[in-house]
Amino acid sequence: MKVFAGIDIGSTAIKVALTDEAGHILSRTASPTGGLFRRNASRALDEAISGAGLSAEDIVFTVSTGYGRKIFKEADDTVSEITANAVGASRSKSSSGRVRTVINIGGQDLKVIRLDADGHVEDFTMNDKCAAGTGRFLEMTARNLEIDVDQLGEMHLSEPGVPVTINSTCTVFAESEIISLLAAGEKRGRIAAGIHYAIARRVARLALRLGVDDVIFFDGGPAANQGLVAAIEDELMRPLVIPEMPQHTTAYGAAVLARQIWSSSDAMAAV
Ligand code: ADP
Repeated sequence: MKVFAGIDIGSTAIKVALTDEAGHILSRTASPTGGLFRRNASRALDEAISGAGLSAEDIVFTVSTGYGRKIFKEADDTVSEITANAVGASRSKSSSGRVRTVINIGGQDLKVIRLDADGHVEDFTMNDKCAAGTGRFLEMTARNLEIDVDQLGEMHLSEPGVPVTINSTCTVFAESEIISLLAAGEKRGRIAAGIHYAIARRVARLALRLGVDDVIFFDGGPAANQGLVAAIEDELMRPLVIPEMPQHTTAYGAAVLARQIWSSSDAMAAV
């Protein structure tokens, strides 16, 4: 069997997706990026390979993407995360190939990508200058509420009613607001909801500036947070499509591109 690897070296997590020639996922992993990008990326790839019961010789072609893609010299090729994300979203089963807008929230950035009817990138916009509206903002919130980041959605949804309004868009000031609200006895669920709406307003502003078209696909680690999903749907007044494995769309896109690049280079070699 020929196996293709996509490795997405993000600011917070390294995601690996291994696929067969037909694009079916054989294995996927996510692990912290840490400070030693190259070493951790190599380990992540090795773990994905051994976890799938494969060996390094089974991997025909590897494409790296994401923030740290250029440091990973073991890859056969690199692509930008915008391209890999667009391909992964278009090929995702949940989008049925109809996705026109991709919203991606990562550990330290927020992106909106517009695709044409054929799934090619038409335009994109990105905020990577500040942590507001990103996974880091959620991690700060979870830390102050003394829960894990993956409990934020549940905490929000368990508290019906109007969320508190968080006015600060800066992480440092938002943290002070959270601490003041907790000191005043505010319910943690309402605070979690307030943070989700603060992020959602930021996402909606960025998305509407670019122009959104149906179907809207939402991915990146924070897309696993159902409270955040509900807040963004509310702000955009439209439903979002959430893939089964939101954190892995870009790594999957890189694996699909690995197959395409390998096929075209193989065809060239035969000429
Ligand atoms: P990057 O590619 O920038 O490293 P990811 O797409 O991997 O970013 O997302 C990382 C972020 O996802 C983390 O900051 C974390 O807060 C968030 N995250 C991961 N899993 C979950 C989850 N189950 N629920 C909510 N947030 C999550």
